[in-house]
Amino acid sequence: MTRTQPLKPEFSGLHSEELFRHLVNAVTDYAIFVLDPQGHIASWNPGAERIKGYKPDEIIGKHFSIFYEEEEKRAGKPDFELRVAAREGRFEDEGWRVRKDGTLFWANVVITAIHDDNGRLLGFGKITRDLTERRAAEERYRLLVEGVTDYAIFTLDPTGVITSWNPGAERIKGYTPDEIIGQHFSRFYTPEDVEAGLPATVLQSALQSGHWEGEGWRVRKDGLRFWSSVVVTPLWDARGELYGFSKITRDISDRQQLLEQIKQHADELEVRVRDREQTNAELEAFSYSVSHDLRAPLRIIEGFATALEEDAGDKLDETARGYLKEINGAAVRMSRLVQDLLEYSRVSRTELALGPVPVGEAVENAVKQLGEPATGLKVSVPAKLWVMAHRNTLVQVIFNLVSNALKFHPPGVHPQVQVGCEARPNGFVRLSVTDEGIGIAPQHHERIFQVFERLHGPDGYPGTGIGLAIVKRGIERMRGRYGLISEPGKGSTFWIELPAAKG
Ligand code: ADP
Repeated sequence: MTRTQPLKPEFSGLHSEELFRHLVNAVTDYAIFVLDPQGHIASWNPGAERIKGYKPDEIIGKHFSIFYEEEEKRAGKPDFELRVAAREGRFEDEGWRVRKDGTLFWANVVITAIHDDNGRLLGFGKITRDLTERRAAEERYRLLVEGVTDYAIFTLDPTGVITSWNPGAERIKGYTPDEIIGQHFSRFYTPEDVEAGLPATVLQSALQSGHWEGEGWRVRKDGLRFWSSVVVTPLWDARGELYGFSKITRDISDRQQLLEQIKQHADELEVRVRDREQTNAELEAFSYSVSHDLRAPLRIIEGFATALEEDAGDKLDETARGYLKEINGAAVRMSRLVQDLLEYSRVSRTELALGPVPVGEAVENAVKQLGEPATGLKVSVPAKLWVMAHRNTLVQVIFNLVSNALKFHPPGVHPQVQVGCEARPNGFVRLSVTDEGIGIAPQHHERIFQVFERLHGPDGYPGTGIGLAIVKRGIERMRGRYGLISEPGKGSTFWIELPAAKG
């Protein structure tokens, strides 16, 4: 308040000292009190009472060293502070002080010397603030940052000079705080990156976007490079001025190495898959031509065996006729095998043009191919169900499943087989073939879909071991799925799923 300005009405009549006393008394966040030149307390405000716990009549007249810890008292700290304040006009400090109840609080203390007009020391004004909570928060933060060893956490001033350094930074980059605080952070960059101006660009973009994040090579103290992931954030003070930057760096060389290894493995795998695909294609081409070429001599064997039986059957004895029957039987089995192999390579090799096929019709065709009508076979397929498929392949697949279902039941038991079909919520249509036959142990569920994998000798249940391999290959090539539910003695359900189509 200057003398030229009149006092407001509510203050009129008050002396400025009185006004000042009211002000000091209203302050409760700061302890404000006066000391005589020797350090005895001469006044005491409510803030002082709140922070330190003494009432005015308990404390006035006492020496202010009462607020200090014993050790500091012995070291002469209170007097030292007064001497400095008397000499320099002001003394500021932060440290532990003692309350009336003996507990400690973290204080910010400012002592100001008060002189009269002639320069004679009248005493000291002392303002103390309780910063215990702020200090605790800072301490928690410091412990957090200090405890982190997996990340380098450090701060830069606005020009990029390092101002703090945590143990993680020391571990990752190799510098102790003494060596690095005060240096420019560009020393972590490779000469190429420094040349390209990357350090400045990083700070610039952090400022522009409030954040910079990136990965790259950085250099350790020992000159070794490591692959790092970095986050830089600008720090603004309460007035909105740039205070510096925080930088968090993680050494992710291991991850990078792992990624490179994975990539290398993937490349190797790709080469192997390509080799294998080529071998498979060659094998398939080979088996196709072998099967194809076998057909002609087979037909000749069958033809001549039949002719021999017809023309000279009555001249042959029982044993010779038996041999002839064996030859015929073997020829029939072999031609079935050749037929199945050809079918398998057709499903594997040729282009399968997919289109909408009504499932009911495909089942009907497959059942027709069984020959004589099977009495134990029940088909229930809703007419509205269509799938995206290759018609002939789908018929072949269903035929294989149904003929297996009719075949694999205990001797003398009449087969009971059901063919059902339903739309699934996943956009597929599932066709199931369920029998009450001999069933299959779970450990064989996968292997029976491989070529030539059979669980029986040819005597019990004749077959080639190719039927389910055709199912697998055909369904895969029509972008469908397949599976089975079965246990020995409890029958089997083979299912296939194909994408639903509109009829
Ligand atoms: P094949 O029927 O010519 O033997 P598949 O490839 O069709 O060849 O079947 C392979 C094997 O899977 C069969 O030999 C049989 O052991 C088993 N199998 C297939 N379907 C059934 C079924 N419905 N019930 C029990 N076993 C089956």
